Amino acid sequence: MVVKMKTPTIPITEIEQSAFCQTDDELKAKSLEEEFGAGVRWQKLPVSYMRMSPEELDDRITEARAKLGARVVILGHHYQRDEIIKFADHRGDSFKLSLLAASMKDSEYILFCGVHFMAETADILSAPHQKVVLPNLTAGCSMADMARIDDVLDCWDDLQDVLGESDGLTPITYMNSTAAIKALCGRNDGIVCTSSNAAATFKWAYEKGERVLFIPDQHLGRNTGVKMGVGLDEMIVWDPFKPLGGNTEDEIRYSRLILWQGHCSVHTRFTVDQIEQARERFPDVQILAHPECTMEVVQAADYNGSTEFIKNFVSESAPGSVIAVGTEISMVKRLAAENPDKTVFCLDSVVCPCSTMYRIHPAYLSWVLDGLNEGVVVNQITVDEETAEQSRVALDRMLTVV
Ligand code: SF4
Repeated sequence: MVVKMKTPTIPITEIEQSAFCQTDDELKAKSLEEEFGAGVRWQKLPVSYMRMSPEELDDRITEARAKLGARVVILGHHYQRDEIIKFADHRGDSFKLSLLAASMKDSEYILFCGVHFMAETADILSAPHQKVVLPNLTAGCSMADMARIDDVLDCWDDLQDVLGESDGLTPITYMNSTAAIKALCGRNDGIVCTSSNAAATFKWAYEKGERVLFIPDQHLGRNTGVKMGVGLDEMIVWDPFKPLGGNTEDEIRYSRLILWQGHCSVHTRFTVDQIEQARERFPDVQILAHPECTMEVVQAADYNGSTEFIKNFVSESAPGSVIAVGTEISMVKRLAAENPDKTVFCLDSVVCPCSTMYRIHPAYLSWVLDGLNEGVVVNQITVDEETAEQSRVALDRMLTVV
């Protein structure tokens, strides 16, 4: 076995995560030029768009959108800013939006206001004549950026060397990963999961084999493993910068769940202390946490589930309910505004949007819509056919295991 030494690197998306954190409650868009003042490294675009005020951009987007009519569909993830979500024809989590992208065969362009891996999935699932556009190419996801395909391939090879090829190791990747990783799962009897069906995919995998490699979110993986009865002593974490992920061969052989060392920079901000403080302030509070939060937070919460679960829970709660939510702030603020008969607030008092979702500034939306009206497709996302085909295998399996 060749032992490779690697230099640990932190994705730029992770470094920039706190660029727009603030204690002030306002999260209103400024001109892009002003937002660049936070020192972020986003995609460059013509300076005229950078200088437009939010009001000018709003008018310009409305006009460009109307000219395109049914040729374009705009999909908006729940974590997008209000100034973007108002233009979305549909909103949802990554899973719901991918299914929508697969079903809307009439529109020529799918404008994905989300992050890079979502646009890739939309391209894989959409029809060949459709073009998927991501308004800002630097809108990645820090969690997805923590699993680079070369590191995952090295991990897979190392595990095959230690365990043997007939071990029955199943790779499961969370939706929040690159198409190349989804393809690796597709060609190795693995599967894609979402935060809604992670437990079902684990059940599926353990029915056919002993062991699971879960990529890239160690927290969703650990929370799901605990739910499925895997002992904490049967889980190991794979650090891509250390030989054998920082484990011994015996530890790998004993493990039943190998967790890639990745995390969501937004959901790991929530703490058990914040939950206790919310309970002190509001004795009747119900605490909802996303399963990308740490195990301690998920176990201290009353409920945990995907963004769609959180959205439905809040809207179906009785008037007067008090609900503290551990998920992205743009979504929590929108839930609070849309449910004025309930008290809905974020567990973290510091206002901290997902900085990669925040990269879809209205200036980018305006720029790509103007391009489409001029016959120019800016920022098209394409996945090569071989990768797309193998990814579709893992995505199709996911749909049968819901
Ligand atoms: S909230 Fe976390 S997992 Fe979701 S896009 Fe942002 S960084 Fe990625």
